[in-house]
Amino acid sequence: MTCDVLDDRLAAVSHLNQQKAKQSRDSLADGGRAFRKSLLNWFAINAKKYPWRSTRDPYAILVSELMLQQTQVVTVLERGFYDRWMKRFPDTQTLACAPPQEVLKLWEGLGYYSRARNLQAAARLIETELEGEFPGSVSEIKKLPGVGPYTAGAVASFAFDHPAAIVDGNVARVLARVFDFDQAVDSSGGLKTIWDLAGQLMPRRKNAKSREYNSALMELGQTLCKRAAPLCDRCPVARFCVTRDPESLPVKKTRQKTVLLEEDVLFARRKDAILLELESGSRRKGLWKLPALNRAETNKRPSDQERILLTLKYSITKYRVSLYVHQVKGSLADVSEQGRQWVDLTELETLTLGAPYRRVLEKLL
Ligand code: SF4
Repeated sequence: MTCDVLDDRLAAVSHLNQQKAKQSRDSLADGGRAFRKSLLNWFAINAKKYPWRSTRDPYAILVSELMLQQTQVVTVLERGFYDRWMKRFPDTQTLACAPPQEVLKLWEGLGYYSRARNLQAAARLIETELEGEFPGSVSEIKKLPGVGPYTAGAVASFAFDHPAAIVDGNVARVLARVFDFDQAVDSSGGLKTIWDLAGQLMPRRKNAKSREYNSALMELGQTLCKRAAPLCDRCPVARFCVTRDPESLPVKKTRQKTVLLEEDVLFARRKDAILLELESGSRRKGLWKLPALNRAETNKRPSDQERILLTLKYSITKYRVSLYVHQVKGSLADVSEQGRQWVDLTELETLTLGAPYRRVLEKLL
C-alpha cells in the first residue's frame, strides 16, 4: 500500500480533527506495516488455541463462524457444540444428507436456528451445484445462504489466507479507538468508513499473514481493547492509538427500546405424556414448544393465580419475555388445536425444543 493511498483514506475520515489526523498519518505512514508487525508479534505469543484456528478446512471455519455469530466462545467450546457438530457432520456431504430434524437437534441450546438451517442449505448448495467444491473467493462465499460480508471475509481469510478485511464488533471497537472515530459504527456511513479503514490496513498480498492479522485484531478487541476498562498499558498498538477516551468509543446509535412481552403457555400432562405444539412460521419450523394457552382453556381455569405453576423470564433480541406456565388437566386441554400432540416423556430428548421451554420442563418434570 502506498502512503498516498492511506493519506487519502485518512483525509476522507472527516471526523478526525487535524491534529488527530496528523497523529494517525504519522503512525501509519508506512502503510500500516509497523502497526501490523506490532500486532502480529503480540499475537505470536498470546494467541488463544481454538480448534478452528488449527484447520484450513473452509467448511469447519464456516461452522465456527456461524456458531459464534450470536454465541460466546465459551458456550460453543466448553459445552461441546462445535466438537459434537464436527463429529456428526464432518463435511458438507454428511451435513447435506442429514435429516433436518437431526440438524436442528444438534443445534439445540445455541438458539437462532436459522443459522443451522442456513448451514445445511449451504452444504446442499455446495454438494448439488458446486460438485462438492467449497467456493474460494469472498464474492463466491458470500453467495452461500446466511453468509454476509463478515463471514465471507472470515472464511476467505482464515481458510485461504486471502487479504480480505473483516469487521466484527471487536474489530470495529479497536479501529474506532485507534482512529478516534466518533461517528456511529452501526450507522451505514460509519460502518462503511470502518470497513474502508480495515481494508486499508490489511496486508495487500495473498499469503501475507492476513489470517493471523485478522485473528490478532479480533483477539485484541476481545482481550485488551475491551468495552469497559481497556488494558491500554499492555496494548501492542498503543503507540498508534489516537483516542484519549477509549471507553467513550465506539459511538453507537441510540439503543433499541426493550419491549416487554407476556406469553401464556400450558402444562398439560397425562400419565407418561406431555402436550406439545409444533412452532408455526418458517423461522422456527421444526421446533417444539409448550402449547400457547387458548381462549377456551382460559375459560376453564377457575383462577389465574391458582393455576400458574411457574414464571420464567428470558430475553431474546429486543424482547424481555415473561413466560407464564399454566397448569391444565390433561382431559381439559384442547388437543384439536393445530400442531398439538401428546408426546411420550421418553421421546422428549429426541425433540428440538426452544431453550425456555426445555428449562420449564426440566423444572416441572
Ligand atoms: S491503546 Fe487502548 S484503546 Fe487503543 S487500541 Fe489499545 S487497548 Fe484499545
